[in-house]
Amino acid sequence: MKLYEFEGKTIFREMNIPVPKGKVISSLDEAKEAAAEAVYPVVVKSQVLRGGRGKAGGIKFAENEDELGRVVNELMGMVISGEKIEKLLIEEKLKISREFYMGITLDPKSSLPLLIISAQGGMDIEHVAKEYPHQLFKMYLDPLKKPRQYEMIDLLLKTGVKGKVLVQMSRVLHNLTECYFKFNAMTTEINPLVICEDDTVIAADSKVEIDDLALFRIKAVSNFERKEELLDPLESEAKVAGVSYVGMGKGNIGLISGGAGLGMASMDMISVHGGVSANFLDLGGGATTEKTAQALKIVLKTPGVKGVLLNLFGGINNCEHMAKGITSVLDEVKPNQAIVVKMRGHSQDEGWAILESRNIPLIKHGTTEEAVVLLMREMEKEGGM
Ligand code: GDP
Ligand code: MN
Repeated sequence: MKLYEFEGKTIFREMNIPVPKGKVISSLDEAKEAAAEAVYPVVVKSQVLRGGRGKAGGIKFAENEDELGRVVNELMGMVISGEKIEKLLIEEKLKISREFYMGITLDPKSSLPLLIISAQGGMDIEHVAKEYPHQLFKMYLDPLKKPRQYEMIDLLLKTGVKGKVLVQMSRVLHNLTECYFKFNAMTTEINPLVICEDDTVIAADSKVEIDDLALFRIKAVSNFERKEELLDPLESEAKVAGVSYVGMGKGNIGLISGGAGLGMASMDMISVHGGVSANFLDLGGGATTEKTAQALKIVLKTPGVKGVLLNLFGGINNCEHMAKGITSVLDEVKPNQAIVVKMRGHSQDEGWAILESRNIPLIKHGTTEEAVVLLMREMEKEGGM
């Protein structure tokens, strides 16, 4: 989950990364209160999840209470790249002397966290990478052996900082690394990391993304709430149903598996036989009739799905219950996609009987590969390939 700037800064504060004094407001009344208490000049920052707010006009300054009122009025409700502004962060305006970049993000190529620092901050890091590649300094982080302070200082020295600024930056870098690992972040980024006119170093912005499965760890810091509309509608439906669903963009085959390992093996097999997975759905344990039905409905709704493979195992789950869930969907939704089930385990005979009574193509004792091949054939029949 991506965090808003003010949420990221809450975590930074907790991790002793210096951030400006500020207040979040979500109404004009709150703005009036904040205006009375503020020390001017202030910066007013739209809280949206996409970056580039500066360029889009989402960041404004105010010298006094009147100006602050005007700016808040202007920004509240404005739409920035499709996102309506509902919260503003009002902060003391920093006297900026230089803007740096400091960020850690999971690098998919190496599967390692990649630390990047640059003295060219304040702009898009992709832009810096293109225009000033020699001014980006990188270091891969080993999750099992965190970097030593001297390694971080060596990296910082390459940007040309020294003295008091270097000391503060190395502290920020250490804390940002701790923050990345402590909260299972995918990204922790400060852009710009500001050097003020009095040489204090402070994080003027935050971009933090946390692995969804680790969100419980930051609940202790703050109860970050998200409107459902920010989630993929099928993902939020799955959340309510208690199954883990990941949409994967363009694909023609929907998948429901009994366990994540079986799911990954199924996806490999789908790929081997020329199919493209449209989603990943792990039914998990406790698959009741209803849960199975909901899972199937969600997968059938996934755009582009022409066929669905249910690769199920009755370990904790009961094959008869799962079969009932599947047939209930056929009655309710009457899908025109091909459906193939491979299922065995607890109460398999009862489950198979239910599926066979409805002529659902079924693999009883065969392999996942056989199930995939059967699905491909069924899809051809339906003209879905
Ligand atoms: P982004 O455009 O969404 O990344 O938003 P940022 O928070 O990074 O702000 C964009 C730019 O606005 C920064 O690079 C700064 O140049 C400027 N800015 C943000 N906060 C302040 C501040 O407190 N004082 C001053 N002078 N400039 C600021
Ligand atoms: Mn920024």
